[in-house]
Amino acid sequence: MTSMGSDLVRQSARVLAEAIQAGEVTAREVTQAHLDRIAQVDDRVHAFLHVGADEALAQADAVDAKHASGQQLGPLAGVPLALKDIVAMKGVPTTCGSRILEGWIAPYDATIVERLRDADVVILGKTNMDEFAMGSSTEYSAYGPTRNPWDLDRIPGGSGGGSAAAVAAFEAPLAVGTDTGGSIRQPASVTGTVGVKPTYGGVSRYGLVALASSLDQAGPCARTVLDAAYLHSIMGGHDPRDSTSIPSPVPDVVGAAMKADVRGLRIGLVKQLTGDGYQPGVRQRFAEAVEILTHLGAEVVEVDCPHFDYALGAYYLILPSECSSNLARFDGMRYGLRVNDEVDGGVESVMSETREAGFGPEVKRRIMLGTYALSSGYYDAYYGQAQKVRTLIIQDFTRAFEQVDVLISPTTPTTAFRLGEKVDDPLAMYLNDIATIPVNLAGNCALSLPVGLSEADGLPVGLQVMAPPMADDRLYLVGAALEGALFDRWGHLLIEEAPAL
Ligand code: GLN
Repeated sequence: MTSMGSDLVRQSARVLAEAIQAGEVTAREVTQAHLDRIAQVDDRVHAFLHVGADEALAQADAVDAKHASGQQLGPLAGVPLALKDIVAMKGVPTTCGSRILEGWIAPYDATIVERLRDADVVILGKTNMDEFAMGSSTEYSAYGPTRNPWDLDRIPGGSGGGSAAAVAAFEAPLAVGTDTGGSIRQPASVTGTVGVKPTYGGVSRYGLVALASSLDQAGPCARTVLDAAYLHSIMGGHDPRDSTSIPSPVPDVVGAAMKADVRGLRIGLVKQLTGDGYQPGVRQRFAEAVEILTHLGAEVVEVDCPHFDYALGAYYLILPSECSSNLARFDGMRYGLRVNDEVDGGVESVMSETREAGFGPEVKRRIMLGTYALSSGYYDAYYGQAQKVRTLIIQDFTRAFEQVDVLISPTTPTTAFRLGEKVDDPLAMYLNDIATIPVNLAGNCALSLPVGLSEADGLPVGLQVMAPPMADDRLYLVGAALEGALFDRWGHLLIEEAPAL
């Protein structure tokens, strides 16, 4: 069929797009190969909540027709993608991993879906997630957990575990995630894939179900830094339908990924994001990556961000506050589930019984925490204080970026843990995001890429690169340089070492 052999699913998005453009393979063949792969492995991985095979093949046929008529194709035309089930796509179920939205069909496309369609990206379906994006393991999905392709007894991270697992299991070369406190980067880290949280306001939130509006941001999941850059450039850019969207073009992320050069760059190692809380296997790979960056010509220095120690505490006041307000709209009247509307208990009982039946325990916990933090008499002590801490974290970043071009840290303190290990211990679960949360609080951008396997358990370790707002191109410059050096060392991408499913 093609010079790249029959294993289409193992190719990068860019290789697939180029092969389609060169007429070596059709978009239909590429799409069918991924649908076959999903049929082969997803009963074990459970990355998808919904697969739209007919729609995907129809989209692929439209790309092939465009190509046959001699029209110019975009850089990701015909490439399959998996969409996190928190993004509205017209005519398709959107559950957010919750029973309360079971059966709800989105009546419109999110801006990012429109942009993906315009770019002829083929959307395969919707991916599993922790309910309303609260969690770090995808175990809080009402539809059962996703499993990590590296070890099916382990978690794929969360909340976007489905998107990361789909990419890691070669079910899709690309996926879209959302990151409010780490939900793109932490799953990327524990599945050996690449994930990017763009600058807040860099990618439209129109059509995303809101968790915490001041923190939420959609971004790319991929197996290579360059693939992530192409997806980022398609998703990003100003959208008048999102009032927080930044009215300037996406930084040249593709150009930066191609340049892949850290010579002369100043890199800050965040003192607060290393140390005893991080597994030795994680610290070892991170230290090696730092050596490689130095060897490539970057200058690495230690940087102090003292208020990062308070980021987790501030986040768990701000996020519950915002989500308790955002989730008030799920009242049994407007969307999805409605319980007991035949019984004459009045509208309030329908609302409370619907929410009781429709929300899982983690969502209820956060709604209660948030309602408490916002209640009169406590507002200043909790929400108000947390916002002040947020300002101090922004100042830490600002000061750090006066000294260095980018900051780095391990993405997560540990490798993938076992299913069930932390599900009943909220604090242990929350601690997974200790290194990713400061970026969301400050609104800047970050990327996670795989830097090797921990010697202790043979599982992937991720390194996080952080850059100032709207300097997303720096993430790709550093990420691609490091990825290239590691590729030279290993002779392949880390994901190639994942066990065959
Ligand atoms: N794990 C974090 C939380 O539970 C992050 C969630 C996210 O980024 N959506 O809040």
